[in-house]
Amino acid sequence: MKAVTWQGKNKVEVREVPDPQLQEPTDAVVRVTSTAICGSDLHLYGPLAAYLDKGDILGHEAIGIVEQVGAEVTNLKVGDRVVVPFNISCGHCWMCRRGLQSQCETTQVVEQECGAALFGYTRLYGSVPGGQAELLRVPQAQYGPVVVPAEGPDERYLYLSDILPTAWQGVHYAGGRECASLVVVGLGPVGQLAARCARVQGIERVIGIDLVPERLAAARAYGVEVLDLREVDDPVTAVRDLTDGRGADGVVDAVGMEAHGSPVAERVIRAVSSLPGPLARFANETMGIDRLAALHLALRLPRRGGTVSLSGVYGGALDPMPMMQLFDRQLTLRMGQANVRRWTDELMGLVGDDRLGLEQLATHRLPLESAPEAYEMFQEKRDGCLKVVLDPTG
Ligand code: NAD
Ligand code: ZN
Ligand code: ZN
Repeated sequence: MKAVTWQGKNKVEVREVPDPQLQEPTDAVVRVTSTAICGSDLHLYGPLAAYLDKGDILGHEAIGIVEQVGAEVTNLKVGDRVVVPFNISCGHCWMCRRGLQSQCETTQVVEQECGAALFGYTRLYGSVPGGQAELLRVPQAQYGPVVVPAEGPDERYLYLSDILPTAWQGVHYAGGRECASLVVVGLGPVGQLAARCARVQGIERVIGIDLVPERLAAARAYGVEVLDLREVDDPVTAVRDLTDGRGADGVVDAVGMEAHGSPVAERVIRAVSSLPGPLARFANETMGIDRLAALHLALRLPRRGGTVSLSGVYGGALDPMPMMQLFDRQLTLRMGQANVRRWTDELMGLVGDDRLGLEQLATHRLPLESAPEAYEMFQEKRDGCLKVVLDPTG
């Protein structure tokens, strides 16, 4: 089969690889019909290159048709249309029973000191080949894959694999409906859906921050007030001005680490390194603001006693926590990979009438072979690119 493989820093190639086979009675094999590129793939593509091996198959957002099932997979049958959660969870361990599927004790690889295994996240998360491919072996298929209706475009359901539950959990962890005001930092696919979910939940004032014009416009169309980092002198003051001078009740960081040297990182450095405040200066002088720009911004935006929810992924040796800031401002921080399966039933009710605009979210639908150009375009946020879906069926 064909698959998107990592071949070096900022380099992916579509290669011919062996078809996956059932290995366990709890496995299924899915023929992928759509598979998206995620901001988390950009971490592997660039900053986390040291953790990959040439040939690793990428991708963790996939929908398709069940082609084979193992003997213990009684919930699925050949021909079912399924969306596959990015974290692989068993549904019956101590963590799964508590709704912490991202910490599944059955699939985590203890020596790797990480949570549940993930598709396409290499030896960082269990070395499971990913879904940017024609076929995907799905472990724990007796629990993970969600059967969806046979009709309707793939995009209606595809994002249940990751970015929709991630956005939903991000808003929930930031305080959800209890927030009168919520800021979403970063309006990529995750931030877009977080801001839209917040509006759908009835949060009155939802403020989105980014620096890519098309992304700001896309959020504005869903009732989100937007701040353009390139134009606003001080986003902290701007948010306070919109929130009775106090700051927002909740903040979702939907950025995470931005690749060093990427055009966006360069613009972010220029926009954020001039922030007032000793902590921003300290961060800037001691550790290079680009990796931490969004986090430090996110920590300054809530009101005292407010909540910051990190959906964006941080990692690596360069990310010390600004503990004094957290302690003094008495913030609540919640974070972690989405517990996808915890939210999917609840979210199914939201995808039917497409009030979140899921069916228009992808700006590009391309054949799997276009993965190298697609990764580049998505990383650089070029050509109005907001979300790319790859089609391996062509
Ligand atoms: P993305 O890279 O397309 O989006 C990031 C957005 O942030 C971009 O629009 C960029 O312009 C903007 N940005 C960069 N620096 C900024 C700054 N300082 N202030 C404001 N905006 C800034 O990626 P995405 O697919 O939306 O993913 C976002 C993050 O969420 C990534 O870190 C990804 O790894 C993470 N993620 C986490 C989970 C989870 O389970 N927790 C799941 C999916 C994605
Ligand atoms: Zn993802
Ligand atoms: Zn489990």
